[in-house]
Amino acid sequence: MMPMVHCPKCNKEEALDKVLTAQSNQNVIFKCPHCTYTKRQIHTSKG
Ligand SMILES: [Zn+2]
Repeated sequence: MMPMVHCPKCNKEEALDKVLTAQSNQNVIFKCPHCTYTKRQIHTSKG
């Protein structure tokens, strides 16, 4: 089961793998599909 995350802007809940994008440099981008809020290098325990 994929963990859920809350968007800090619109506060909607979305599956982790839908809002997080792993970059080749190991940064992780958070992008909310509801409000298009984007944040780089969020903290994650993934991996
Ligand atoms: Zn949002």
